[in-house]
Amino acid sequence: MPQTQPLIGLNCQYESKSKYCVRHRIGVYVPYYQALLTAGALPVVVPIVWDPAALTEYLNRLDGFMFTGGQDIPPQAYGQEKDLRTQECHPRRFANDRLLAELVLQREIPVLAICMGLQLVNVVYGGTLIQDIQTDIQHTPIDEGNDSYHSIVIQEENLLHHIVGATETEVNSAHHQAVEKLAPGLRVLARAPDGIVEAVQMTDREFFLGVQWHPERIVERPEQLRLFEAFVCACHPGS
Ligand code: MN
Repeated sequence: MPQTQPLIGLNCQYESKSKYCVRHRIGVYVPYYQALLTAGALPVVVPIVWDPAALTEYLNRLDGFMFTGGQDIPPQAYGQEKDLRTQECHPRRFANDRLLAELVLQREIPVLAICMGLQLVNVVYGGTLIQDIQTDIQHTPIDEGNDSYHSIVIQEENLLHHIVGATETEVNSAHHQAVEKLAPGLRVLARAPDGIVEAVQMTDREFFLGVQWHPERIVERPEQLRLFEAFVCACHPGS
């Protein structure tokens, strides 16, 4: 655990006023920030402000950034018509997330992008997505709230391989979309047996990792906790 805890920002969901929600609100699932706390960081939820100046100020003070999961990226953002099975996230969330993804690219802070977070950085940096995976491997939860599990094959001699310590491991899976065309600057580190991209890295960064699974929900597995520990270790306080 680092001697001084790095400050790590994370993005959040946006929910409009509705029958069940008397005012607009933002939210984040507890396992995301709990995993950062467990790994020795101080997590900070960055609210949805969709203001580049304010987000820049946040990032100036943060030592790392984690992109969390959510619903689907609007397909117009990567030049596709919307598939019937695509469920777009709130436009305010996407507007804010897009700014954050652009701004983190302009600085050297370490990044961990989870599930929709991986898809977000791929789209914002110029890639495209498969809007609904059609393969024999179960990537979506079998029933609501219970992730599916499948194996992944990790390429040798890269950041993820060093963290996991093996070229094959099992991960949870709760996504129906995935990387189609990879954005320039990203490299695939791991795939499921059906070829679906499960992990990527920004090649010219010390720590810029995207994973398609949800390590924050399975931190009882040592290799998944090590993912957060490695991320937190790469975030240098006050840098
Ligand atoms: Mn999967």
